[in-house]
Amino acid sequence: AAARRRPGRVARYQAKMESGGALALLLIGELADALRHGDLVLHYQPQVDLRSARVFAVEALVRWQHPKYGLLGPGAFIPAAEQSGLIGPLTQYVLDRALAQNARWHRDGLDLTVAVNLSARNLLDPHLVDHVSAALGRHGLDAGTLELEITESSAMVDPRRCIQVLTRLATMGVTLSVDDYGTGHSSLAYLQRLPVTRLKIDQSFVTNMVSDQPSAAIVRSTIELARNLHLDVVAEGVENDETLLALRDMHCPGVQGYGLGRPVPPPQVPELITRIESRIPEILRSHRPSA
Ligand code: C2E
Ligand code: MG
Ligand code: MG
Ligand code: MG
Repeated sequence: AAARRRPGRVARYQAKMESGGALALLLIGELADALRHGDLVLHYQPQVDLRSARVFAVEALVRWQHPKYGLLGPGAFIPAAEQSGLIGPLTQYVLDRALAQNARWHRDGLDLTVAVNLSARNLLDPHLVDHVSAALGRHGLDAGTLELEITESSAMVDPRRCIQVLTRLATMGVTLSVDDYGTGHSSLAYLQRLPVTRLKIDQSFVTNMVSDQPSAAIVRSTIELARNLHLDVVAEGVENDETLLALRDMHCPGVQGYGLGRPVPPPQVPELITRIESRIPEILRSHRPSA
């Protein structure tokens, strides 16, 4: 009813559905096959601890190697997968691939944590915890090698249930993060009840923080808030050295972004980690922290 009183909004929504919707519909028909054929691939982007200059985790980001359309980003098919019921199988696929890859890295002596993104629907799936536990077992990995990212808004869909599921995962030893923090409308009181380890500050604030004072203020206060709640923080969307230095001056513990490394296919991960770990101290050394 609220939408009906605002025709401009409805028209914009419909236009959006029509422009993005046709391809999404076309793709969704093919997604089940793509999962069966293994056409979805994962790229990995490092998350860096600024204090130690070490890469402590890599985030798995799904892409679709489509025979006709080339490499498609998640924006092209995740929303449709969420609406069609395929997000369950897709998440299981991603989880299995990510853990298989991490088991290989561990065998090669690379001790990494892999972060996997969950959708709101996954949190409502009564089998989620069993699937996670089975996947870890299948690949012989400790729960401590897995991080699961839930968005702030998906944690708000069914708070009671979310707390239950996250508590079971945390008890297993899985690390939990709140993704896209700052874009949802969760209350602090609620967030504090979630057994999460980390807040990931949404890139929309971080990318602009050097030139946009309000964004900088949001980033700064989030870092402070997280510290007071004993939560770890990763700033997402760090695109350049200037932003990295501003975050260091705010005592931000973790960073992730194109300026450090874009998401890359698995074979490029070890070299990217080495490059980042040698570059960070150089950047930090070349600029003294401001008082
Ligand atoms: P996200 O989890 O917040 O992931 C970060 C996104 O920001 C990634 O886009 C990453 O490539 C991009 N990014 C990283 N650094 C920078 C930077 O410095 N600047 C800018 N402008 N962007 C940066 P991507 O890979 O296109 O993924 C978009 C979103 O799709 C993800 O956001 C996540 O919500 C979703 N997604 C990706 N993989 C999966 C998945 O396996 N399952 C589910 N459910 N969602 C996924
Ligand atoms: Mg994420
Ligand atoms: Mg994010
Ligand atoms: Mg995001």
